Amino acid sequence: MKCEIVAVGTELILGDIVNTNAQYISRKMAELGYDVHYHISVGDNMDRVAAVIKNSLQRTDVIITSGGLGPTDDDLTKEAVCKALELSMKLDHYTLDKIKRHFNDLNKEMPVCNEKQAFIPEHANVIENDNGTAPGLIIEKNGKTIILLPGPPKELIPLFDNKIYHYLRSKNENIIKSKTLKIIGVGESLVQEKLKSIFDSQTNPTIAPYAKDGEVHLRITAKSADERTASELISALESKVKAIIGENIFGYDSDTLESVVVRKLMEEGKTISIAESCTGGLISSRITNVPGASKVFTNGIVTYSNESKIKFLGVGQDTLHNYGAVSSETSKEMAIGIKNISNTDIGVSITGIAGPEGGTKEKPVGLVYISISYGNNVKAFKENFSGDRERIRRNASSKALDIIRREFL
Ligand code: ATP
Repeated sequence: MKCEIVAVGTELILGDIVNTNAQYISRKMAELGYDVHYHISVGDNMDRVAAVIKNSLQRTDVIITSGGLGPTDDDLTKEAVCKALELSMKLDHYTLDKIKRHFNDLNKEMPVCNEKQAFIPEHANVIENDNGTAPGLIIEKNGKTIILLPGPPKELIPLFDNKIYHYLRSKNENIIKSKTLKIIGVGESLVQEKLKSIFDSQTNPTIAPYAKDGEVHLRITAKSADERTASELISALESKVKAIIGENIFGYDSDTLESVVVRKLMEEGKTISIAESCTGGLISSRITNVPGASKVFTNGIVTYSNESKIKFLGVGQDTLHNYGAVSSETSKEMAIGIKNISNTDIGVSITGIAGPEGGTKEKPVGLVYISISYGNNVKAFKENFSGDRERIRRNASSKALDIIRREFL
């Protein structure tokens, strides 16, 4: 079923407030299996709101409006919808009593203008608003549904969740289910290229990529009459994607690189310690953000200067002198050093040039060495990152986490 969301309010089109109601409703409608085709914002003007409603009615099944149900003259959504649908309004005594009670509870006299909120379009179902005076309304006419909701999110959200959601669920025979596959190590355009045949032939499920913080997220969305069929449709497409993207997929839905790393270390019963230079503690911070990280993470240290690398990690003075702080040799000694002093199964190190200063022709900004040491092994990885200091540090920390993940696949 098709749906359009019409947000009414001059504040919206002047840019004074952000249309968070449309975002909220859209997410819920996707969950409910509706196709939201348009978000429309329109000012508090009777003719324009009525024209928008008439126009939307020609192409959609469900219209949800937000705002303009208040007591003042510029609140005119109900009136405009009536104009568009050629409906009259009548006073609803139950709603009027409720509004009067509301003011009574506040020890206040009901302002005369609030009576306006008790006028209801003919044939409309009144949906009680437990958090304000303007009720929600559902109007069904000629196979179309128009739902009117109050503007304040603290009224709209509970009204939608508690009263409108179930109504909409029962109206729509489809449910929508989605799963996000999270990818690292392959850029968005390469993912698109590798999955071209899948992208070209997508109908149900659909597949949509988006890039985020050096990762690519692929959202697979299936529409079906029941949950089980939707899950099967997703699994079938997921298998095809996995066959192509392989172990670059690091997780699903709410997974993060760090949560996957912590989970893997827990599964393996391994402990880890980290020595950081250019990332200044970012890797340790990301790991310790994961609940339960204390079971696998013992300590991390930031050894920024050469002296600290010598003093705390036992990096050789000669190594630093001969190869420099940003080198495969130094990073390896850092990884071995942190593993030994921390007595962990794994030691990881990172050293690099985050910029903007400090780069040379041989060692440009963005050059980073990451080493991982476990047992008697130590491996160094040379990486080159682009972007500003923040991006280099963030992507370098992601790369280090990804190296740990891949080593324990
Ligand atoms: P009221 O009875 O409070 O007048 P109403 O249904 O008439 O409610 P509006 O007057 O249009 O709603 O908006 C009231 C407030 O609700 C706005 O000032 C704004 O803070 C919030 N609001 C309205 N529309 C939106 C929207 N689309 N997204 C987020 N907030 C909104």
